[in-house]
Amino acid sequence: MCGIYQLYRLLQLDADVLVLEAHEDVGGTWWKNRYPGCRFDSESYTYGYSFSDELLQEWDWSEHFAAQPETLRYLNHVVDKFDLRKHMQFDSRVETATFDAATGGWHLRLDDGRELTCHYLLTAIGLLSAPTMPHFEGMDDFQGRAFHTYDWPDDPVELAGQRVAVIGTGATAVQLIGAIAEEVGELYVFQRRANWCAPLHNRPIPPDEMARLKASYDDIFAACDRTPGGFIHGPDRRKFDEVAPHDRRAFWEELYASPGFAVWLGNFREVLMDEDANAEFSAFVADKIRGRVDDPETAELLIPQDHGFGVQRVPMETGYYEAYNREHVHLVSLRDRSIERITPTGVRLVDPDGNSEDFAVDVIVYATGFDAITGAFDRIDFVGEDGQHLGDKWQYGPSTYLGVQTAGFPNLIMLAGPQGASVSTNFPRAIEHAVDWATELIEFMTTNGHQRVEVTAEAEVEWTAHIKELYEMLLLRNAKSWFTGYNSNVEGHDIKRYLIYNGGAPRYRKLVAEIAADEYRGFRFA
Ligand code: NAP
Repeated sequence: MCGIYQLYRLLQLDADVLVLEAHEDVGGTWWKNRYPGCRFDSESYTYGYSFSDELLQEWDWSEHFAAQPETLRYLNHVVDKFDLRKHMQFDSRVETATFDAATGGWHLRLDDGRELTCHYLLTAIGLLSAPTMPHFEGMDDFQGRAFHTYDWPDDPVELAGQRVAVIGTGATAVQLIGAIAEEVGELYVFQRRANWCAPLHNRPIPPDEMARLKASYDDIFAACDRTPGGFIHGPDRRKFDEVAPHDRRAFWEELYASPGFAVWLGNFREVLMDEDANAEFSAFVADKIRGRVDDPETAELLIPQDHGFGVQRVPMETGYYEAYNREHVHLVSLRDRSIERITPTGVRLVDPDGNSEDFAVDVIVYATGFDAITGAFDRIDFVGEDGQHLGDKWQYGPSTYLGVQTAGFPNLIMLAGPQGASVSTNFPRAIEHAVDWATELIEFMTTNGHQRVEVTAEAEVEWTAHIKELYEMLLLRNAKSWFTGYNSNVEGHDIKRYLIYNGGAPRYRKLVAEIAADEYRGFRFA
């Protein structure tokens, strides 16, 4: 999504530009995530690029929340329409990127041994592109098929009638489980901590509705621009306490019946900021879960105990809760037991008294998430000006200025870097802005004869402190989720890390525009 648009913009400047892509083809997250059920939870027509009217008018979305194959077709269409593929090299994984003070540029080494140099290095490496596996004993000895959702095999995976284990219950698992529950023989869902999920309410877009949407793209994008998350859903500005409890309830019924993230991002602001408001709404959603799951014990297990609604990313679901009403779908809670090991034939649990239980399965799907945002950076050994490794600098958490640059790494521009706005919003809306801003920075340098840009250490310290302050305003500060950099499968990532900008996209855009207008305050040019 990001690299495609950056390439398009740089070609407009007549730049000599090359995209290196680790995978076999175009698409990034939409190339890799091919698990059944994978689809948008942004409205399709808010997710497409906005930079070309012609593109907007010629592309029809088939559903309000399009599935992965359609999005991949869309991205290929964009690449072909603007003739971008010839500037891309696939199967090209960058292993090291070293700043060369003598030339003021970057020296790259790829995993196939190739060496390349460039003046500017722009990263469009994704925020959820470093999948993480758990570390259970015996994983290699499993005799059936086993894979991470991100690495869903190309050759068809036979699920019909099979015994399947899904480990994890995040947004990915929730989509997957809803999609496969009917066809599998037995489904065992291993849940460590429950998530608050809400109905997606997807539906097709008939041609007349698509025509109306096309006619209102200006309004749609303007609406996205006004909201903190870049979605069409913005917070309700009424004060929680000023709305009578029975009116709040009526409003919540409406939200729960609305498509997409309305229930999360169109709610009262206090739901995400105030413990009491959050508890009241969580109780409302808990009742919804109880109403949808037949077995009361299973329903209680599906209601999160350790966090309130919306402080972790809300998985949007289609038939997720109803899946547990099927005889052959089993919720296996890891609240009082843990996975002891993977056996050649399945999954073994053990309780604190040492009692074990085996679950025999044919397929194990690890829906265990990602080393978010910094994981993609950690896979490349970035070496800065004084021989400093970025991995060392960010060992206890990233520090950046605006999420765009980190001190000591000149001419390295992060398009969806930690602590920027792209990583906390409807991605395409924010990355179009990030790419435009980066492109203007490069234009500014060219116009002014600058060869080198870097951020000052002071600007970085100040920005990182600001990022921490913003976390403190939201209940998500206590969440154990990728929003706070938590990942139990990565050493050192069970601490809170400040990965995202929580001030909202409009505020971020205003701020970075002012900084650019103020001769790029906080940046140093040479
Ligand atoms: P995730 O939200 O991080 O969920 C990972 C799940 O695996 C959690 O339930 C976690 O349990 C569990 N897990 C991890 N290690 C485990 C272990 N060792 N033992 C047992 N359980 C373990 O990852 P995700 O579901 O892939 O979603 C990540 C993000 O991708 C989402 O938040 C969203 O931003 C994005 N996404 C987007 C879409 C979309 O746009 N439509 C769809 C899917 C995903 P704990 O909670 O206990 O750690």
